[in-house]
Amino acid sequence: MTLHNVVIVGSGPAGYTSAIYLSRAGLKPLMVTGALTPGGQLVNTTEVENFPGFPDGVMGPDLMDAMKAQAEKFGTEFEHADVESIVEVPAEGDDVKPTYHLTLDTGDELDARAVIVTTGSTYRKLGVPGEIEYSGHGVSYCATCDGFFFRNKPIVVVGGGDSAFEEALYLTRFGSSVTLIHRRNEFRASAIMVERARANEKLTLLTDTVVTAIHGEAPAAAPAAAAIKPAGQGIQLNLGKPTNGISLGNAGGLSLAAPAVGNVSSIDILNTVTGETGTLDTKAVFVAIGHTPATGFLGDLVDKDEDGYVLVDGASTRTSRQGVFAAGDCVDRVYRQAISAAGMGCRAALDAQAYLA
Ligand SMILES: Cc1cc2nc3c(=O)[nH]c(=O)nc-3n(C[C@H](O)[C@H](O)[C@H](O)COP(=O)(O)OP(=O)(O)OC[C@H]3O[C@@H](n4cnc5c(N)ncnc54)[C@H](O)[C@@H]3O)c2cc1C
Repeated sequence: MTLHNVVIVGSGPAGYTSAIYLSRAGLKPLMVTGALTPGGQLVNTTEVENFPGFPDGVMGPDLMDAMKAQAEKFGTEFEHADVESIVEVPAEGDDVKPTYHLTLDTGDELDARAVIVTTGSTYRKLGVPGEIEYSGHGVSYCATCDGFFFRNKPIVVVGGGDSAFEEALYLTRFGSSVTLIHRRNEFRASAIMVERARANEKLTLLTDTVVTAIHGEAPAAAPAAAAIKPAGQGIQLNLGKPTNGISLGNAGGLSLAAPAVGNVSSIDILNTVTGETGTLDTKAVFVAIGHTPATGFLGDLVDKDEDGYVLVDGASTRTSRQGVFAAGDCVDRVYRQAISAAGMGCRAALDAQAYLA
């Protein structure tokens, strides 16, 4: 079996950046892209306006295609699969370094001298009707990424931890109002964050409340790809008003299979104590109920924190296991941006290069 210099697991901005550096250095990396979403999280978004080098913005899938082309041009090879497990093969004879044996969901097996893990994380979802349909059209999981699109519009944030409060406070810069909805009447967020939120005139806290459905307006017509933007910027046609009360259907007769959706216009809410229901008009729903790093397949290979984020040594990308490096959102619970993941991917490539030298 071929012994690869480096196998990169995951094909988001961190993985592609590692691949570009390693292939330019002549190390011929092999990338295992992930079976379901090669290209990573940005493949599921529309316009990215904060990645440097694109003054007019760039569509997420186009950005990821360009990163792939750049990695391919310098000799990166790709395998479209998920890694199911990685085990260390102890060094033998005069070898001082172990190798790694990877098993893929296709049944293929790979051996590598070094591994870079860039498997990202997934946003926890509310799991309510309308959430998936309006994702990227008013439903967002990232205030830094999308807050700008909702200037002077009413915004809802769902969650009760520090991140939810941070996002809500940040969004008061843009929204005409921000309503933070939390299912309990106590918050996990620190007291200072709650205090700040209470002192902010634009921010309303709605406790003991859950969102039960997200509604939107029907699209004007199938828009050209480049014209699709998050809610607040797209064209809106008021073909069907959302119903009051809890509804399991889509407002405006949209179905899951609809080729395009309009933008968010309202949500249904339920008071978990009184059982009262209601409707709240909003143009954006920011879901801030946590992330799950995609690191389960690593088992005990490397040290992780209590939430599953891979732990690295200081500012490096070295994990607790020599020869295994990690970068991007599977490590970073704070910044979670394409550019920060790409920067860390660069560091992982340089760390791996130094390890292999
Ligand atoms: C809707 C949305 C909009 C966003 N908008 C912006 C924005 O405008 N600007 C910005 O800077 N950031 C934005 N972000 C955040 C940004 O996408 C992430 O910070 C970034 O993609 C993280 O990059 P990554 O390389 O760490 O991981 P990811 O992009 O998450 O890629 C991880 C990769 O690993 C693969 N993978 C997972 N498990 C396995 C496995 N077992 N085997 C093999 N492969 C595996 C996945 O298939 C995927 O290809 C947005 C995120 C979302 C969800």
